[in-house]
Amino acid sequence: SKGLVWFRRDLRTQDNSALALAAASCEAVYCVFVFDKAILNHLPRQDRRVEFIHGAVSELHTRLGAMAPGSGGLIVLHADSVDAIPELAARLDVQAVFAARDYEPAALERDTAVQQQLLSEGRQLKLVKDQVIFEEREVLTQMGKPYGVFTPYHRAWLARIGANTVAQHQLPENIAAVLAPVPHELHSSVPSLSSLGFEETNLQTLGMHGGESAGQTLLNDFVVRMDRYGEARDYPSLKGPSYLGVHLRFGTVSIRDLVNLALERVRAGSQGASVWLAELAWRDFYFQILANFPRVARHAFKPEYDHIQWESGEHAEALYAAWCEGRTGYPIVDAAMAQLNQTGYMHNRLRMVAGSFLVKHLGLDWRWGERYFATHLNDFDLSANNGGWQWVASSGCDAQPYFRIFNPVTQSERFDAQGKFIRRYLPQLAGLSDKAIHAPWAAKPMELLAAGVELGVNYPAPVVDHAQARERTLARYGFLKKSG
Ligand code: FAD
Repeated sequence: SKGLVWFRRDLRTQDNSALALAAASCEAVYCVFVFDKAILNHLPRQDRRVEFIHGAVSELHTRLGAMAPGSGGLIVLHADSVDAIPELAARLDVQAVFAARDYEPAALERDTAVQQQLLSEGRQLKLVKDQVIFEEREVLTQMGKPYGVFTPYHRAWLARIGANTVAQHQLPENIAAVLAPVPHELHSSVPSLSSLGFEETNLQTLGMHGGESAGQTLLNDFVVRMDRYGEARDYPSLKGPSYLGVHLRFGTVSIRDLVNLALERVRAGSQGASVWLAELAWRDFYFQILANFPRVARHAFKPEYDHIQWESGEHAEALYAAWCEGRTGYPIVDAAMAQLNQTGYMHNRLRMVAGSFLVKHLGLDWRWGERYFATHLNDFDLSANNGGWQWVASSGCDAQPYFRIFNPVTQSERFDAQGKFIRRYLPQLAGLSDKAIHAPWAAKPMELLAAGVELGVNYPAPVVDHAQARERTLARYGFLKKSG
């Protein structure tokens, strides 16, 4: 039989479930990637993620071509995949299309539409697990219900892996023969970014490259730091985390590889590996939350939190703009937003601090922050982003309680004690002392003058007062105590 592998967010050849399954079950396999107009048309013309995907697809094309010289590699289309996939399947006369399952509501809708069309023509869509270790029905409570709290989920998740490693997917030895020659008229090179309607970003300057070799390089770089992850991960000026989020997002690394590498270190007694493995479990946790409770994409996980009255109107819009542009007057928040705006990455500690600031200092709906992160994070994933935002807003499953309000100055003093991170992103504050840099408004006028900092001129005065904001938030959330 003949099969078509439809690559989406699994842009690699190594340990790729859909490719391995197709290669094991078909005599002839074709491969396709669609630059999907339904997604791309809504993005800004400069988008680091599109450039990342572009790099990853180029490498995939080369790798598939090298595996089966003369086969033509990957078919690359620029189209609406709901039409393009069934058309291509018909054109190639395959019996089945293979793809990695995607759990986001929009992707599920797309896949249902493709499946219906394929079925009506007597073909199948075979969706396989690839981007998670366990799917939404694989780790359940004893009552057969999804977990809403991380700690017992994590325990059950680890127990389910047990003493084993996670099984990976090898390609068959005869892969060169299985990858079928692409009909000549479908031979395609990867369209240029500009022909897709996009412009180059600063991705290359940042040293970021899409593709499985870049993913592997980053992974190798992290493996030797993994043991220190537990201590280093909370300090944004340190190279503590793996920076693999974007590679996980687009499948240029395999989650099974990562988990197996971490397990190996955990079993050798590494504390750092154990903390990192727990983060990978958080990733699965939020995937299963989204898959089991898709309403969270628009609503609070705890329904009563949908009744919170957020700030609105012009003043709220102005505060939101100040937050987005890093002009709140709180250096740690502004430096975090500058990191996001300049690089598409934000350190996890800062996602919590900046997120909490939007919700609990500015009184703005967490969905506003969620939307901004969704358009700016390279590693944006609906499940983790939504989970993270509902955590800071206290509306999520296993979120921080609403009365826990991060003090941005204390967070800054604790996690960026010498202001190294702040100085990197807010050079206008670089001359302030390690003490004053966290709260320039509280510095002595002489110190500000000596450091060349003019509040309201080259750095904003704080847009809100911490103590007042805290009181407002406790009042805003106060009805929850009464109701419940
Ligand atoms: P590492 O610290 O090296 O962690 C390794 C991997 O574990 C990450 O790449 C990620 O896949 C996973 N992971 C780590 N922490 C979490 C977590 N709390 N929840 C779920 N998965 C986790 N993560 C995203 O992948 N996409 C998002 O859109 C996203 N949005 C967030 C929004 C907010 C408000 C918050 C508080 C957190 C968000 N996170 C998101 C989680 C976390 O901040 C990032 O995964 C992490 O900072 C990515 O950097 P890294 O790859 O260097 O992570």
